[in-house]
Amino acid sequence: MAQCTLKPDLEFSRKLIAAGGEDLKKCYQCATCAVACPLAPANAPYPRKEMVWASWGLGDRLKSDVDIWLCHNCGNCSDLCPRGANPADVMSAARNVVYQDLLEPKQIGTWMSKFSGLPFLFGIPALLWLIVWWIRTSFTNGEWFPTRADGSIVFGDIFYGDYTIDPIFMITFFGALFIICRGAYKLWQSFKPEGTVAIVGEQKCWLCHLWDVLVEEVILASHFDECQDGPKTGKGTPSRRVGHTILVWAFCILAFVTAVVAFGHWGGKIFPAIEITTPLRPLHLIKLLANFGAILLVIGLGILTVRRVLENKTTHKSSYYDWYLLGIIWAIALTGILAQCFRLAEAAGCAFFIYYLHLVFVWMLFAYLPWSKLGHFVYRTVALLYVRMYGRKS
Ligand code: SF4
Ligand code: SF4
Repeated sequence: MAQCTLKPDLEFSRKLIAAGGEDLKKCYQCATCAVACPLAPANAPYPRKEMVWASWGLGDRLKSDVDIWLCHNCGNCSDLCPRGANPADVMSAARNVVYQDLLEPKQIGTWMSKFSGLPFLFGIPALLWLIVWWIRTSFTNGEWFPTRADGSIVFGDIFYGDYTIDPIFMITFFGALFIICRGAYKLWQSFKPEGTVAIVGEQKCWLCHLWDVLVEEVILASHFDECQDGPKTGKGTPSRRVGHTILVWAFCILAFVTAVVAFGHWGGKIFPAIEITTPLRPLHLIKLLANFGAILLVIGLGILTVRRVLENKTTHKSSYYDWYLLGIIWAIALTGILAQCFRLAEAAGCAFFIYYLHLVFVWMLFAYLPWSKLGHFVYRTVALLYVRMYGRKS
């Protein structure tokens, strides 16, 4: 008789439990969760098999499993699990642990996985922007909170866009983009084709599949319709689809505004007719649009935060990753709004300090994006593209 030797990866199991999968050992393999999942296709059900692999410490299987990225974390499986093994949380924990192994430098993934790593994550940009601030005081006669002759405050007098904000964020953005692309490539390489695959139906090029995924997942968010909250998880909580959709639109508006201002600023050096100078007037169209985006951001964040607070904790726990991302976006929104208020009130000390914190939090969002839940969006897109190229819809 052929023998099969299993080699449990105890380190992986330990990380999985630490990342929120502490109930996985309760699973007794009844398969209710695989039946309950509204997204799992009949010929490739999940999350039962993931529960087996997680219980046995089969880290390699989970690392190459495309299905953990397709889960929408709706909680149906956890709600109906008769053993309280919380498979939705185990799926989420598996994704978080795979992040840590997928991306370099791994130390950032380790810091991102626990609250005790937060001081390091905060300390790096805090020191960076403090050095920038200190250097720039040599241009303001040693003044840390400079004001103009009319009492007005211009953040650019300290955090000068051309030589501080723009280059630092450009380097950060492209660095994060490189890391996330490398991670997405490694993830794609790690997926294993499911045996000999006969692709049924229309075959399309990968770009067409990618377009379908982006339209359905990002623009229409149609999977939220298929994947409604579980009966206990979602009871009495605000709509996840509404919160996510508002947040996505807020990000789009704010990204558009940033792009227009950058284009107007740099393009204006060549074509003075399109020049945009900052700070913008309060009634400038771009300023109004930016404020509208900020209001949408706060509303979307509010909905998702209330939802996480009200969720049924016995069947669905929010992990540290969930709170980290919400916390950073809250910090960006609040410091952005407060910095503007203090600037208009001509309170220089508070305005510059809050703006400094704002830059620190924005840097944290961009620089650590590959390890955060925002990175999940990219990896999930890669997984969806992969399964569609093998003939699966989800
Ligand atoms: S996680 Fe729960 S529902 Fe799924 S197989 Fe295990 S015991 Fe059954
Ligand atoms: S959380 Fe929802 S999408 Fe994820 S495995 Fe469970 S039922 Fe399926």
